[in-house]
Amino acid sequence: MTRPTPPIEFPVPFDQVTARFDGKAVDVPDGFVKDLAGVCPVMATDAESLAESGRDWWPLALHWALEGQVPALPCCTARPRSTAEVSALLSACNQEGVPVTPVAGRSGVCGSSVPLYGGVALDMCGMEGLVGVDEVSLTGTALPGTFGPDLEIALREHGCTLGHWPQSVAISTVGGWLACRGAGQYSTRYGKIEDMTLGLEVVLADGRVLRTGGRSPRSATGPGLTDFFIGSEGTLGVITEATFQLHPVPPTERRVAFGFSSFPAGLDACRRILRRGGRPAVLRLYDEIETQRNFSLEGTNALVVLDEGDPIVIDSAMKIVEDECAGSGATLLDLSLVEHWLGHRNDTSALQALTRIGIVVDTIEIAAPWGALPGIYDSAIGGMRAVPGNLNASVHQSHSYTSGACLYFTFAGNPPEGTEDPAAWRANFYEASWQAVMDAVITGGGTISHHHGIGVNRARFMRPALGDATMSLLADIKHCLDPHGILNPGKLGLPSPFGEVPWP
Ligand SMILES: Cc1cc2nc3c(=O)[nH]c(=O)nc-3n(C[C@H](O)[C@H](O)[C@H](O)COP(=O)(O)OP(=O)(O)OC[C@H]3O[C@@H](n4cnc5c(N)ncnc54)[C@H](O)[C@@H]3O)c2cc1C
Repeated sequence: MTRPTPPIEFPVPFDQVTARFDGKAVDVPDGFVKDLAGVCPVMATDAESLAESGRDWWPLALHWALEGQVPALPCCTARPRSTAEVSALLSACNQEGVPVTPVAGRSGVCGSSVPLYGGVALDMCGMEGLVGVDEVSLTGTALPGTFGPDLEIALREHGCTLGHWPQSVAISTVGGWLACRGAGQYSTRYGKIEDMTLGLEVVLADGRVLRTGGRSPRSATGPGLTDFFIGSEGTLGVITEATFQLHPVPPTERRVAFGFSSFPAGLDACRRILRRGGRPAVLRLYDEIETQRNFSLEGTNALVVLDEGDPIVIDSAMKIVEDECAGSGATLLDLSLVEHWLGHRNDTSALQALTRIGIVVDTIEIAAPWGALPGIYDSAIGGMRAVPGNLNASVHQSHSYTSGACLYFTFAGNPPEGTEDPAAWRANFYEASWQAVMDAVITGGGTISHHHGIGVNRARFMRPALGDATMSLLADIKHCLDPHGILNPGKLGLPSPFGEVPWP
């Protein structure tokens, strides 16, 4: 069974790790934790379990880890083995008003699994594996704590694939993908996780177990409730099972790469490919900076294309790609570029290396209609570069749709020599860089997240992005499903009954 991968090592023993948001944790009597062990026997209170359940891969918090801090500490880590255990534990916590934060691969990059007010870290990794596959209908049901590689290995024994390949596939789980509304690198053909999901089993805060959707391809039995829980980041219910649309393991693969004279010209070619019905699994366009960094090519914007599936279908998709790229005056690049992308696409070692030398770096993925993308691209890149201390502001287009696409920005900065308080400098720089991109997206008509979600980091942008009426409806839905507010409090920009939402 795969386990969570810690983002970076602590410089101190686990029992000396402290909580950055100190003072926010609610008091939970020892006796209550003992009672919980009666309904969920796999329970840990050792320093390592608590420290590791108190953080995820939020890049700003990696700097805190190097100071021996996690964002927050739970009072215990409970690892349920069944839906019945999740239900009994939630019911007990609901009655006592104890916060419960689902945690799984802990690979989130916005602090969404951080137990801001302490309480129980509900470690879903104990519920893992493939429940079953219907090879005729191409559907499969999996438990939430199943990590990506374990799921794909099990599916391939049935000749199937989910087609969900996030960069974090090795360190993230089915439940985390659903709770964050994730996207894989092959999403242009297979869709995002919400497009793949047919139904869920969910436990509500009071312990009620319900099912949404089912295994049927479509339904007209009232509104679709599955969407309440996909993207809810553990604030509305705990996902205990999911049924997905599968695909046969693809028999054929094709690759091609082109270079564009400008990033907007490449974006426009992607738009025209999608408009004609071309949906190659991978259609990624890198700006000049990222083309140089990833492929050591100067003065071009590289488009990496890969498709897989039935040869007749993918041959026509590739024909559309070639037509549109040639029509844009793009140059054909060496195929080794796609091979290089495949070999390095999940390498995340740069994040830790840069953090260790004091550089603050993060990525911001947003989506917008094609018509709005060039404007958002210009103002987001300009906004990041205008922040004093910026070392890098770059972008790639990573997921395309008929109506628009996802832009994935990267920024980095380093405190200038002689900075008195580098930690404060990093926090200010980080906040200003995020603000610049969020302003560009909100005023430009895009959405503030395409697949990483909200967590702690984006919570402050939810109201400007969604508006008062939508936020108030979201709060009403939260209150209806979780009246005591115990589920992952302080996230999604929702009010918390446990006090103000902390921000560094
Ligand atoms: C290097 C790197 C690359 C990444 N690349 C991608 C990418 O390509 N695409 C992408 O979409 N994301 C990516 N991410 C972000 C992250 O991997 C995803 O958000 C992932 O879906 C989180 O899954 P997890 O199992 O690690 O969940 P966690 O981080 O443990 O939790 C994330 C959220 O889900 C909730 N949650 C977890 N399990 C459940 C459950 N069973 N029921 C209810 N709520 C639950 C938690 O409370 C939390 O709010 C990347 C992250 C890193 C570090």
